[in-house]
Amino acid sequence: MFQLRHSGGLWRGSFSLFPDSGLSHGISTRLGGSSKWPFASCNMALHVGDLPADVWGNRRLFAEALHLDAARLVTPRQVHGDEIHIVEAADAGMGARRYDESVLACDALVTDVPDIPLMLCFADCVPLLFYDPVRRVVAASHAGWKGTAAKIGKKTVLRMQDVFGSRPQDILVGIGPAIGACCFEVDESVADAFRAAFPEAPQILSRSPVGKATVDLWAANRLQLEEAGIFSKHIDSADVCTRCNAELFYSYREAQGTTGRFAAWIALS
Ligand SMILES: [Zn+2]
Repeated sequence: MFQLRHSGGLWRGSFSLFPDSGLSHGISTRLGGSSKWPFASCNMALHVGDLPADVWGNRRLFAEALHLDAARLVTPRQVHGDEIHIVEAADAGMGARRYDESVLACDALVTDVPDIPLMLCFADCVPLLFYDPVRRVVAASHAGWKGTAAKIGKKTVLRMQDVFGSRPQDILVGIGPAIGACCFEVDESVADAFRAAFPEAPQILSRSPVGKATVDLWAANRLQLEEAGIFSKHIDSADVCTRCNAELFYSYREAQGTTGRFAAWIALS
């Protein structure tokens, strides 16, 4: 179950599937930070035009609520691709304060190093958080429609297997708040990409009342995780639509462009 809790002046979402000990994780909201309109107020992203000092303050506040060190967080330049970066001890702090020091062009991070928060930013795209309690590995992926169709979630599981020997049956996954099928109308070319990527699952595509194609990104991510061998009972989906809840989460579609980003954080402790 996905729960929102209030502590230290901030709201924080978490998955009850993930244990309280051994790791820290959380999904931030747009409430409780110091950024001004149109980024108000807890924007976590340095690349959207917000004041860097406000973003750094927001990151520090959220890290404190999770008992993490914001100065050690690692974050990439997200490019809606399917590249995955293995985070090593020497990477600690990449992108924490400066965007030009981020990990280059990737959309998923994996690590077995404790006390390095992995952080990815979102406004409608799907956050995926992974925890393997046996091999002690965490990962985070950014799955917009392109990443979802390119199966970045499944590829993250494969990389955890290849690099760290993780077994899919041990891995727990949280699917965070993201635009729902209720609001995700797409062009036919996007619908075609999903028909090609998920030929066995026509149910992820539907039609809006006005006849536009819609895509269920939550289901498409759940499906590819199960394809990778993740047990259904080990997948916790927030089922919260960011556009329907744009007062709580940033929504690129609702804002029609310029807005902030909330973040998904995970770290081994
Ligand atoms: Zn919606």
